[in-house]
Amino acid sequence: MSELINLALRRNIFYPTAKIYSNSPAGFFDYGPIGLKIKNNIVEFWRKEFVEANNGLEIDGCQILPKAVFEASGHVANFADSVVKCKKCGVFFKGDKLLSDSGIDTKEQINPEEIDKLIKDKNIACPKCKSKNFEPSFKFNIMFGVNVGIDNKQPAFLRGEACQTIYLDFLRIYKNSRQSLPLVIGQIGKAFRNEIAPKNALIRTREFTQMDIQVFFNPKKQEKFDYNPDAKIPVLLINDKKEHLTPLKELINKKIVKSKVEACYLEKYYNFLLKLGYKETSLRFKYTPEDERPFYAQACWDCETYVDDLEWIEITGIHSRTDHDLSVHQKHSQTSLEIVEDGEKFLPHVFEVSIGTDRLLYTLLSDSLETLNEKNLLKLNESIMPYHMGIFPLVNKDDIDKLSLKLFEDLHRKYKVIYDDKGSIGKRYARIDEIGVRYAITVDYQTKEDNTVTIRDSWTTKQIRLNIKELADFFNKKLAH
Ligand SMILES: [Zn+2]
Repeated sequence: MSELINLALRRNIFYPTAKIYSNSPAGFFDYGPIGLKIKNNIVEFWRKEFVEANNGLEIDGCQILPKAVFEASGHVANFADSVVKCKKCGVFFKGDKLLSDSGIDTKEQINPEEIDKLIKDKNIACPKCKSKNFEPSFKFNIMFGVNVGIDNKQPAFLRGEACQTIYLDFLRIYKNSRQSLPLVIGQIGKAFRNEIAPKNALIRTREFTQMDIQVFFNPKKQEKFDYNPDAKIPVLLINDKKEHLTPLKELINKKIVKSKVEACYLEKYYNFLLKLGYKETSLRFKYTPEDERPFYAQACWDCETYVDDLEWIEITGIHSRTDHDLSVHQKHSQTSLEIVEDGEKFLPHVFEVSIGTDRLLYTLLSDSLETLNEKNLLKLNESIMPYHMGIFPLVNKDDIDKLSLKLFEDLHRKYKVIYDDKGSIGKRYARIDEIGVRYAITVDYQTKEDNTVTIRDSWTTKQIRLNIKELADFFNKKLAH
């Protein structure tokens, strides 16, 4: 088990759902009290930087949607993986994964016939039991079906991607908000996929949270999408062995980036991830060639981040979806979704930045986990850390507890503060170091004499002594909020 998963279980960050029942299905996770705080902070940071900064609007749509929506979107027909079953041990494998794990490069959309041929030609064995006997592979739709109503006559699905709701709501929001294009609509919400092989904790789960922005725009009018042509983006292009920093203007000249909106959001998103706390060397944008793109995408970048024991993991899809979504919903619902701006009647195009929130959280924690003096140190930046500081009374007597509680009362209205009075001070330090809390304030006998406390910075383990009256000033300088 990786150190991060171990830490997550030990410190109430995340853990498998319904674990007290031995037959609970894999691929479902709960966030505990510490994990939820970190997740909420990530969401709030995204909201500020990505939705509100663009004068965007946010919705919270339903998770169950009628079947007709997904017939229109193509999910009923196309949202499927090729699956192979081992005849001997009965284990199912994702076809492309079985091949790639055996060292055979394939595209994700490989069809069952091609898989069967490769399994035979390359003499592939079951990773579990080593048998070479497989059943013919088949397509498996990973949408979760549900039935609505007592008579079960209204087929519906748990949404496989959250964005469909935004397309369904677009025209109403556009008209009622009285904004003109480009219009950013954001949403954080759950999506569900009946994954064949859920694994690696939060990396591949069956219920997950997406943070999306969908940018609606007129493709002929992109002058509002600003970017710095000299901004360097770490890209992995076709045939590249390694990612390399490339200025946007070069990507545009080579016609790899084809629109201003694409350039604008590549830069914005890269900056967002750096501000969130990722190391520069842990990020790259993988260009997806036409034959490997999702069925709706005209341009497609997978933003990936490096995780030590898993290598490169996709955390975000950046797609130019053209007017595909609005046009299919217009056709299937027989409701016009066109708008009129500057005398032109048209269907807006959509550019999306769709973030797998749980993957982002997992990889950010992994990227931020360091070792200091042989102990874990989770180095989260201040907008993401679950608490800014912990308050520790040295003992629970002689009025030291009362002084500590009073300090907690004073500070927690302005900062995120955790109070911990259990165990040795050393253990309390180790506890907060592991969950990303930066400062520890210890109240001791000297506090009673001269009103001073010790402040320890977990990033350096250095301690200073300050008068309680100086704390506000100190934290105002150290923390932005
Ligand atoms: Zn087997």
